[in-house]
Amino acid sequence: MSNDNEFASYVALVTGASRGIGRAVAVRLASGGATVGVSYLSNTKAAEETVHTIEAAGGKAVLLQGDVGAPGVADRLVRELLALFNRIDVLVNNAGITRDNLVMRMDDASWDAVLTTNLKSAFLCSKAVVRPMLRTGGRIINISSVSGVMGNAGQANYSAAKAGMIGLTMALARELASRNITVNAVAPGFITTAMTAQLKEEQVAHLRQFIPLNRFGSVEDVAEAVAFLASSRASYITGQVLRVDGGMVMG
Ligand code: NAP
Repeated sequence: MSNDNEFASYVALVTGASRGIGRAVAVRLASGGATVGVSYLSNTKAAEETVHTIEAAGGKAVLLQGDVGAPGVADRLVRELLALFNRIDVLVNNAGITRDNLVMRMDDASWDAVLTTNLKSAFLCSKAVVRPMLRTGGRIINISSVSGVMGNAGQANYSAAKAGMIGLTMALARELASRNITVNAVAPGFITTAMTAQLKEEQVAHLRQFIPLNRFGSVEDVAEAVAFLASSRASYITGQVLRVDGGMVMG
């Protein structure tokens, strides 16, 4: 684990950090010295494991439970972090779900759940951190997806939410630039996590054909991109979408 202390004194909130990409992001930011708020929905054991991993490596993390798409929760999580550490420097909007189906078979509840968890939560969490970040400057990083860049059959709800995150990224970047708050998106391609674990071996082989680097990415591949955008090395980058997809989407 690298420990270059580039995030020393930073406080970061990572939504959906109990597993997958969010966990890797939380661990990576903590390895750079950040104190991390590990948000999760219901998997307490997994979230505790994230905290233990961070603490075992000498880092600092706290658990933050709640549905980030529900009214009032983002404000509460940010209040909890501020009460403990009195600042928030980095927000990573990562919590996400899929409810895949063809549009002709997709029910309203699947549409609403995906738009609420994946997109509205990013609005609510961003809104909750803006005021404290006005004092210090800050970084907001939205985990979008290649599905939001190029669309994906069977994922109209997910693609709409992830494309919406990109619009939110650009609008917020323009609103907040004068306050030294940068807002960027990371658009992962196929990453090996629980979300892609349902894919059958032949589906994985088929999908690899469309990935020039010919492999699924790792959660660490995404975490490095987030760490870069959170770092001072990215201080002149805002409103951008960094694709971490093995070359699936170019141009
Ligand atoms: P994952 O392994 O399924 O983990 C999802 C995380 O989100 C968990 O920590 C979960 O908490 C949390 N979560 C879900 N709903 C929530 C809610 N309402 N409030 C708070 N937390 C909630 O997902 P992943 O594959 O790491 O994906 C993470 C992000 O990357 C998602 O936004 C996803 O769309 C995006 N992404 C993933 C891929 C990929 O290939 N995996 C590709 C592109 C983009 P619990 O553990 O408590 O349920």
